[in-house]
Order: sequence, then C-alpha cells, then structure tokens
Amino acid sequence: MFTLKCPQCGAESKFSFVNNSYEGPRRCWQCRGLFKLKIEHNVLIYCEPITEEKFKQLQEIHDLKAKYRNEPTD
Ligand SMILES: [Zn+2]
Repeated sequence: MFTLKCPQCGAESKFSFVNNSYEGPRRCWQCRGLFKLKIEHNVLIYCEPITEEKFKQLQEIHDLKAKYRNEPTD
C-alpha cells in the first residue's frame, strides 16, 4: 500500500498496485488536481501536474495497457 501526498493540497490518498510500481494519471480526491506520476518499488519517482486534456489521453493509454496487459509493452 502506497500513501501519495498531493503536491497541491497535501491530501493523502492510499492505493495499491501490481509489483509496487505504477505509472499513469491520477486525480486528487480533495482538490481535483490532475497529475501524472510514476512509482517504482513504493518510491515516488515523479508527480507532475497535467491538464484535463492530457489526463484523458493518459487514462486512455493506461486503460489500453490494462486491457492488453498479457502482451508485451514498449
Ligand atoms: Zn490535492
């Protein structure tokens, strides 16, 4: 379980993921801020604010990857 602190409002949200790693879009439950983030082995690599447009774009890519996760990525 990873605790992510929103860089914008400081709200904490807990979430878990496969292999303790995650890369993708995330919306803050409190300030509704949109971010792109990367976590590797429970360590936050980066978390940067993105636009609504970019968020939707990343979400689509993320959903696609999840749908075809049995196939090699990259
Ligand atoms: Zn926030």
